[in-house]
Amino acid sequence: MYDIDNTRLYSPFLREEHHQWREQMRRFVEREISPHINQWDEEGHLPAGLWHKAAQVGLLQLGYPESYGGVPGDVFHTLVAAEELARCGAGGLYASLMVHGIALPPLVHYGSEALRSAVVPPVLRGERHISLAVTEPGAGSDVANIQCRARSSGDHYVVTGEKTFITGGMRADWFTTAVRTGEEGFGGISLLLIPAAAAGVERQALDRKQGWWCSDTASIFFDEVKVPRNNLIGEENGGFLPIVHNFNGERLGIAASCVGYSRVCLQEAIEWAQARKTFGKRLADHQVIRHKFAGMQQRINATQAYLELCACAEQQGQLKVSDVSLLKVQATETMEFCAREAMQVMGGAGYMRGSRTERIYREVRVNAIGGGSEEILRDLASRQMGI
Ligand SMILES: Cc1cc2nc3c(=O)[nH]c(=O)nc-3n(C[C@H](O)[C@H](O)[C@H](O)COP(=O)(O)OP(=O)(O)OC[C@H]3O[C@@H](n4cnc5c(N)ncnc54)[C@H](O)[C@@H]3O)c2cc1C
Repeated sequence: MYDIDNTRLYSPFLREEHHQWREQMRRFVEREISPHINQWDEEGHLPAGLWHKAAQVGLLQLGYPESYGGVPGDVFHTLVAAEELARCGAGGLYASLMVHGIALPPLVHYGSEALRSAVVPPVLRGERHISLAVTEPGAGSDVANIQCRARSSGDHYVVTGEKTFITGGMRADWFTTAVRTGEEGFGGISLLLIPAAAAGVERQALDRKQGWWCSDTASIFFDEVKVPRNNLIGEENGGFLPIVHNFNGERLGIAASCVGYSRVCLQEAIEWAQARKTFGKRLADHQVIRHKFAGMQQRINATQAYLELCACAEQQGQLKVSDVSLLKVQATETMEFCAREAMQVMGGAGYMRGSRTERIYREVRVNAIGGGSEEILRDLASRQMGI
């Protein structure tokens, strides 16, 4: 087996504790995930007990306040975890198992004490689930245009509308939901914690997807759903800021996963090229093929370095939206390049279901679209360049 860690660019940011965490995560993935992931992906779901196992190793709780059951960890611990989870080569695993990573932070940072203590501990223990519900059939990239309405009615809001493409939506106990409480545009959006069990909530699985098969994706329908006013997260009509604030962590996590998927592609392609013979020699001995590996490594190194600098900036409160936006673009393009090159090296065998590369190839686009598409992120960055 080719040891992909030998090609890892030296990182001045990772300390002994991060290396130990990587080893712990690697053991967790090798024991609890990799042997089963093909079956889970084909069956279209993850087993309920996996969240409990992830809590036992401290994965779900990483970086959350200890007062709510969190365990200490910095941004580099979260990047290491994302990269190690990617080694199973199924993006649906990270998307679903770690979906609280995008749904919980608004609550932790902006929610009331009562809401936090009711929701955060059971989610971190892996007993309950929470999803982020922003996207609507008529508003994806254009978040400011959401139409799901929350009408004020005494000590309640009454919510009517539809959300779609919601990761973990079939399993969720709560939705951190973007709703319209005021005028059109970003100034009229609020965040509301909606219990999935509330009367008037319905959901429908979206299970015909190109990839992420083991991750459940759902449309959520709200029909005159009564939600206590106390479930407001942050200020009324002040929901846009927490949503935008949330993007930094999500984009760093996606970038780290993409580096992980790229390394998987590189490893599988090298192993194949070392074993396969064409025209009397190993595929790996053809210069054209070796150059493909160098090209993949070059892009992985560049993305890793960019990612770690952004993580360092985040730690110091200096991360610019334009930088993390372009980082995500860099990472998805690297994944796309590596998936393409690895498939090409593996020839017909790479096209057949069963390799991690084949699945990663199918899952390029969801990374390039979700969490801010390449077009939207480039536009955001270019507008901040003051051109
Ligand atoms: C599997 C999956 C899981 C998801 N999970 C979640 C989730 O948990 N929660 C959630 O809220 N959302 C989720 N999403 C939604 C995701 O964030 C959106 O798909 C994404 O924001 C893009 O929105 P859209 O699909 O409506 O595309 P659109 O916004 O309609 O865009 C379509 C295309 O047009 C481009 N485009 C749009 N506007 C412009 C412009 N001004 N200039 C140039 N190009 C433009 C886009 O880049 C894109 O390529 C998920 C999506 C998928 C596929």
